[in-house]
Amino acid sequence: MLLGAPGSGKGTQAEMITRQFGIPVTSPGAILRREKDLGTPLGLETAEITQHGGLVPDHIIVGLIEDWLRLHGAHGFVFDGFPRTMPQAESLGTILTRLRTPLDLAIWLDISEETVVERISSRLQCQACGFTTSVTAAVFAERPICPYCDGPLARRTDDDAEVLKKRLLEFKAKTQPLATSYEKLGTLRRIDANRDREAVFADISRLIEQAA
Ligand code: AMP
Repeated sequence: MLLGAPGSGKGTQAEMITRQFGIPVTSPGAILRREKDLGTPLGLETAEITQHGGLVPDHIIVGLIEDWLRLHGAHGFVFDGFPRTMPQAESLGTILTRLRTPLDLAIWLDISEETVVERISSRLQCQACGFTTSVTAAVFAERPICPYCDGPLARRTDDDAEVLKKRLLEFKAKTQPLATSYEKLGTLRRIDANRDREAVFADISRLIEQAA
């Protein structure tokens, strides 16, 4: 699982892990954005919360993860942005025990608040495939299109300065305590995520190879 503040690179690293190691990834945030775009009851019900930087109720998120594990099997997975609260972590523990699947690694992407603010204010995301880049990287293209699928690149609607403040508060209050919890279980590994994506990925790859 990849844990860390907004903008710490969870989505980017999850994508790189999938490409390199072929491990399937699931991200509640990405699922909720898609549901909202599709106008489903789940998307509409949660849009108000996600747009304001709050956390969606635990039972909804745990339900999404259970559905995903049922569909994909529990033999290999990367969780991007799950769990984010202690009750979610406890539910996950129960689910994995039931499935007799150990959790190999909880990777904590350590990042300074300054870097978070800088990254989020220039983040662009592909509306079609979810690839994430930055305004500075995208100026090389004539128009902001995704280098992978040609989809349109745009700012995420919750990447706004005020919403970010709330997301950071939620992170500190509800997600940060998970670090101690996974540290006690011996699965936590901290990585300096202030560096570029390749440097972070090199460390993550090493951890995955050691855990295999
Ligand atoms: P992300 O794409 O991971 O930044 O998530 C975007 C938004 O989706 C978050 O700000 C939350 O509103 C919601 N969300 C994503 N994952 C979770 C989670 N594990 N628990 C509660 N809310 C979540």
